[in-house]
Amino acid sequence: MAVFSSPHFDGHEQVVYCHDNASDLQAIIAIHNTSRGPSLGGCRMWPYETEEMALTDVLRLSRGMTYKSALADLPYGGGKSVILGDPDQDKNKALFEALGRFVHSLGGRYIVAEDVGTTPDDMAVIGTMTPHVAGLEGGSGDPSPATAWGIFVGMRSAIHEQLQRESFAGLRVAVQGLGNVGFELCRLLHDAGAQLSVSDLEDSTVERAVEQFNAQPVSLEAIYGLDVDVFAPCALGSILNDQTIAIMKAQVIAGSANNQLAEDRHGEALMQAGKLYAPDYLINAGGVINISYEGPSYDRDVAFAHVARIEETLTEVFHRAKSENIATSVAADRIAEERFQG
Ligand code: NAD
Repeated sequence: MAVFSSPHFDGHEQVVYCHDNASDLQAIIAIHNTSRGPSLGGCRMWPYETEEMALTDVLRLSRGMTYKSALADLPYGGGKSVILGDPDQDKNKALFEALGRFVHSLGGRYIVAEDVGTTPDDMAVIGTMTPHVAGLEGGSGDPSPATAWGIFVGMRSAIHEQLQRESFAGLRVAVQGLGNVGFELCRLLHDAGAQLSVSDLEDSTVERAVEQFNAQPVSLEAIYGLDVDVFAPCALGSILNDQTIAIMKAQVIAGSANNQLAEDRHGEALMQAGKLYAPDYLINAGGVINISYEGPSYDRDVAFAHVARIEETLTEVFHRAKSENIATSVAADRIAEERFQG
């Protein structure tokens, strides 16, 4: 399987294949760029159908972390790891101990955190083998409130730019997904006077939002075409595609979901449709910013003040996009690339 010639290689510094006989660990650690500092990124456990799919995933995700850390102005580079396996069936203590030893062997060039399929408990096991682990229970805690705060301040930048609005009062926002981030975002928006429409797979969560935030429940499909000011995707990726962009009435898209653009060209499509898209990896960086402050001297106010800077970075991205007549997704990439050395 080709690594250097993979279309996703993109100048990665290091790609480490890890195997441990005793636990049957199969994992790949990818370090994209450390010019700003050690690479930081989650460990994803997933039953990949092929090794190639695992490699593609880890390369794309670690590159994404370089851009994310740069735009969040963190002293970190980009890295990621994947464990090939089913998190519901294949987890055991020895597996994470083995991964911890591999992380440790990199001498701090890669700092691991949780991601899809891994938990703070798994990180605690890794932490018995290496100090190069973040997101431990008792550390900075659940990253979701910080992520929601970043979406909130980022949305403030976007509504100022696109709708010339200084306040959320009366703003109509459709929130897709009422999980850890979406529900907290609803709370912030409701407190600021916004009118909410919400959808989720779980009826009970929708009911809670109706009760607590006077939200309007809508069906899973109807959320895309609602007559609202802002669409806040907080559930799934790839929801900005040919079908949804064609029916979307919202002028602003600002939410936490990762990989919202189905394809890169959809950033351009949104621009052509006159919509302002807040690039996902910038606006949803609150959680990783919060984790970066973890440690004995963690101060929530200091961490959240850094998260609030997402607002000014987004404004910079919007202005760059306008002056160069490019999509906001492209402007964000360009600003990130100016902040790290390739
Ligand atoms: P979560 O799993 O707690 O919540 C996701 C919610 O979306 C669930 O309530 C689920 O029922 C709902 N959902 C799933 N499919 C849906 C659909 N088709 N329509 C409507 N609702 C649907 O996840 P989370 O931690 O709140 O994260 C939300 C998104 O933000 C994810 O894409 C995640 O990758 C991204 N993100 C989260 C963080 C964080 O700090 N938690 C940080 C960065 C990015």
